[in-house]
Amino acid sequence: MNIHEYQAKQLMEKFGVATPPGRVASTPDEAEEAARALGATTLVVKSQIHAGGRGKGTFKNGFMGGVHLAKTPGQVRELAEKMLGQTLVTAQTGEEGRLVNKVLVAEAKDIERELYFAIVMDRATHGPVIIASTRGGVNIEEVAEHNPELMIRLSVDPLLGLQGYEARNIASQLNLGGKYIAPASKLFLALYKLFIECDCSLLEINPLVVTTDGKVYALDAKFNFDDNALYRHPDIVAFRDVAEEDPREVEASKFNLNYIGLDGNIACLVNGAGLAMSTMDIIQYYGGKPANFLDVGGGASEQQVTEAFKILIADPKVEAILVNIFGGIMKCDIIAQGIINAVKVTNLPVPLVVRLEGTNVAAGKKLLQESNLPLEAADDITDAAKKVVAAARKHSEAA
Ligand code: GDP
Ligand code: MG
Repeated sequence: MNIHEYQAKQLMEKFGVATPPGRVASTPDEAEEAARALGATTLVVKSQIHAGGRGKGTFKNGFMGGVHLAKTPGQVRELAEKMLGQTLVTAQTGEEGRLVNKVLVAEAKDIERELYFAIVMDRATHGPVIIASTRGGVNIEEVAEHNPELMIRLSVDPLLGLQGYEARNIASQLNLGGKYIAPASKLFLALYKLFIECDCSLLEINPLVVTTDGKVYALDAKFNFDDNALYRHPDIVAFRDVAEEDPREVEASKFNLNYIGLDGNIACLVNGAGLAMSTMDIIQYYGGKPANFLDVGGGASEQQVTEAFKILIADPKVEAILVNIFGGIMKCDIIAQGIINAVKVTNLPVPLVVRLEGTNVAAGKKLLQESNLPLEAADDITDAAKKVVAAARKHSEAA
């Protein structure tokens, strides 16, 4: 799960991470009021979307930049007017962009240096790894690509946690020696505590800044959380903003489905994550593009299968559906009944290819046959992939 920068700021304040004071606003009035309440001589107005690259982004109305400095509450208001209700396109949003519903108004800092600091889970070391660089700011991706030697890496022992000497070591590698060493290492230790206690999967501070008055602050923050640990963080779950999520995934999560939206045209309903992955691969191999990953698992109920199938049908990009079931724990007749239920209420706007095999396959096939659904049966995964790619092509040509 992702959260907004203004929410990340609240968490950082709770954990004692130095970050400039700020307030969130949903209207130009609120933004102006926030600016007055902050009472700073320089302010920054920041579009709140679940994507980075805002500074260099462009609004669809032509206004450049999702992050701007302002001197007066009046200017803050004008900036908020230009951002709120507008769609911001950045390198991370895709061309469709994201609607800005809120802005963060914060005290602006006079920046001397922009650094980078992140903590992520590293599968290679089975623990957190800290990644830092003296070259923070808006071009960190280029630094990582062209000057990987400028990226500092430190694997943290997950049982011991980040040690004081390690934090100080990172600080000195970031040229934060002398008077900076104490505040910088305090900030890193607080961020590490936050990362662990909140079950983050990513914590990224870009930029971490040194100000001209000699202070160190986390200026921007992007946090991701491990969905499997959210049950123990109701306060973080409350930060969820479904307006920022793929509506198909929001719907799927209501029914506990393992669904990931993609941008292809062939929807798939599969049991088992491995089979779902190979189904996507083989669709791609035969020239199609999967519209989603969907693993209905072994224990899905008829209702879950029904809801899953409805999500596939409702996806406007979908031009054909492939059901690929190798029934083990999952029974083929449950899948068949789920499909029939879904089609009863919504019709079937696109071709459907079904490959059923395994437990209760005869009963499943019989149900489908008696339902008179216009479906194409397939013998095996290769046959199914070829048929669904051809069906999607035919459907899009006919449209
Ligand atoms: P991002 O583009 O989405 O990563 O948004 P950031 O919050 O990182 O802001 C982008 C850039 O705006 C930063 O790298 C800074 O250069 C600039 N910026 C953000 N806040 C401030 C501030 O308080 N003072 C100054 N001078 N610049 C800022
Ligand atoms: Mg940033």
